[in-house]
Amino acid sequence: MIGCDCAVCRSSDPRDVRLRPSIVVQTAATTVLVDAGPDLRAQALRHDLRRVDAIVFTHGHADHILGMDDVRRFNWIMKTAMPCYGDARTLGDIRKTFHYVFDSSTPKGGGLPSLDLRTIDGPFIVGDVAVQPVPLWHGERPVLGFRFGAFAYLTDCSRIDEAAWPLLEGLDTVVIDALREAPHPTHFSLAQATEAGRRIGARRTLFTHMCHHLAHEATNARLPQGMSLAYDGLTLDL
Ligand SMILES: [Zn+2]
Ligand SMILES: [Zn+2]
Ligand SMILES: [Zn+2]
Repeated sequence: MIGCDCAVCRSSDPRDVRLRPSIVVQTAATTVLVDAGPDLRAQALRHDLRRVDAIVFTHGHADHILGMDDVRRFNWIMKTAMPCYGDARTLGDIRKTFHYVFDSSTPKGGGLPSLDLRTIDGPFIVGDVAVQPVPLWHGERPVLGFRFGAFAYLTDCSRIDEAAWPLLEGLDTVVIDALREAPHPTHFSLAQATEAGRRIGARRTLFTHMCHHLAHEATNARLPQGMSLAYDGLTLDL
């Protein structure tokens, strides 16, 4: 947190240093990036991300889309426009925020990312990765989580409709939004996320999108068995 001297912001535990939420789902053949936040460039350099076959967007908030300009480098590496999957509202947010990319009067050249926007209207496939969208509520805004086989990523949510629960059956690993202890209008609190995790019943439940109120080690020490905070750079074999 800018200008904060709290114990988490001053912590020497690297797991207390958090960039904006994003994940990569990778098989031998395919790399899918979920969200492209303002830290995309730093994260790609830190974790040696060398290719992206598609970007899948949960929603259009700034902390999930403001890295779009850095897609230029992946256009160069992949030698093609970047397939960008999102629901209609999210793609609208991207068009508005990056209006110059979609404005035909903008001079063309290396200064613009090349984006191939694709509306999500059900399950879809990127390379050899099957993607199941999971409808979630982020305050009053409908957003998407994503299921990849027995793994699901549910960032930025505060409510899960009854209709969505069957999509979360039989998971091995789930990642759930858990902003802080205190309730928040658009994010699960840690208690709400823990409750959702219990109902999902995955072997392993990880929390994400924590703010600086939650210290990594101290919070993990009081979480139920099989539940813990995720951290930047965490790699899971699925
Ligand atoms: Zn702080
Ligand atoms: Zn959000
Ligand atoms: Zn967010």
